[in-house]
Amino acid sequence: MLIIGAGAAGSAAAFHLASAGQRVTLLEQADQNRIKPCGGGMAAAVQEWFPFDLQEVVDEVIERVEFSWCLGDPVVAELQGSAPFWIVRREELDELLTSKAVEAGAEIIRPFAVSTINKHAGHWQVTAEDGRQLESRAVVLANGSNSPWPAAFGLGPQALHHAATTSVRLEGRGKLAKGTARFEFGLVHHGFAWAFPIANGVNVGVGTFIGRHAADSEAILEQLLPNLGFDPRAGQRQQAPLRVWNGNQKLHGEGILAIGDAASLCDPFLAEGLRPALMSGCEAATSLNRWLKGETNHLDSYSQAMHQRWGESMAWGRRIAQVFYRFPKVGYQLGIKRPTAPQRIAQILSGEMGYGDIAQRVIKRLLFQRS
Ligand SMILES: Cc1cc2nc3c(=O)[nH]c(=O)nc-3n(C[C@H](O)[C@H](O)[C@H](O)COP(=O)(O)OP(=O)(O)OC[C@H]3O[C@@H](n4cnc5c(N)ncnc54)[C@H](O)[C@@H]3O)c2cc1C
Repeated sequence: MLIIGAGAAGSAAAFHLASAGQRVTLLEQADQNRIKPCGGGMAAAVQEWFPFDLQEVVDEVIERVEFSWCLGDPVVAELQGSAPFWIVRREELDELLTSKAVEAGAEIIRPFAVSTINKHAGHWQVTAEDGRQLESRAVVLANGSNSPWPAAFGLGPQALHHAATTSVRLEGRGKLAKGTARFEFGLVHHGFAWAFPIANGVNVGVGTFIGRHAADSEAILEQLLPNLGFDPRAGQRQQAPLRVWNGNQKLHGEGILAIGDAASLCDPFLAEGLRPALMSGCEAATSLNRWLKGETNHLDSYSQAMHQRWGESMAWGRRIAQVFYRFPKVGYQLGIKRPTAPQRIAQILSGEMGYGDIAQRVIKRLLFQRS
């Protein structure tokens, strides 16, 4: 079977399928893993989905979270140990997962930039830009937020919703203390900015979650970077659209599945995309393995599992985002500044809680106390 895209989602699926004895080929357009626009923040809880140690790609464990509103009104929260949060170097995470998939028996072909996918006589034909062609019984779409194929094959939301992001990777730590992540609300209209530590530097990003227009990230970075102890023009900017969750939809067809960003799984409130990418990779592997072994003749167990394990919480996350990012100042005062908020966020990011567990209280608070 063919997996298109060797990012977090595709590599996780390849590892589990190859470990189950399936013949898997990963097709990746990039000749090597390049720096991806990703903060690398990931709950340690994902470790339970893999039999090998992920800690070798962990740069830092977050112990403290600092929040600010327009660079002032700070809130500092010490994270309690129950739901640890890691910062991983993103390209190393992808590399680790890919190499474990290959060790388990998967093949990887790179560079292989897929240009067309067709179904012919019950088989999927996948063609590269340079004309190479492969065939298989099943295909997994794991090629991220720009994938055209989920919509073409009727998988995932019909109306795609994108967050607009700008990120910059900086050398040196500036004023960001060890083990600390920073979130800035207020400077970014309909979104937030973040600064996460990495080995010898800091990853800074700006994300806008509602509305059609990206934030004026340059103006925001010019204010934020000096506040973090950097030159306002430091680092190279990378812009990337991020497909976010927009409704529980079918994620499978006949011998085809969409996973990770290609399936629009990213959290619409906090932009968490790594955990759903890994979760969907693992769930896709479970369903496909049973299907390929002939134990079932459809793949709907994959869509059902993702709706239940992820979509139910995201439906509430989207409602919270719609209210929070419209009234962010109220959200900051009544939500973020609550003593219990950082722990709740950590519990949501680790999967210990879903947005549904807090949503009704949060939305009521935001809607009725904003006058
Ligand atoms: C600025 C920014 C910061 C973020 N920070 C965080 C964070 O801190 N924590 C978090 O949880 N999430 C974060 N996210 C989200 C997270 O990065 C994504 O959700 C995650 O990368 C999804 O993984 P994926 O494997 O689905 O897609 P990707 O990582 O995008 O992998 C897709 C792969 O497919 C390949 N590909 C694409 N097209 C083709 C083709 N035609 N043929 C062959 N191969 C192809 C690509 O080269 C790529 O390797 C962030 C996103 C952005 C943009």
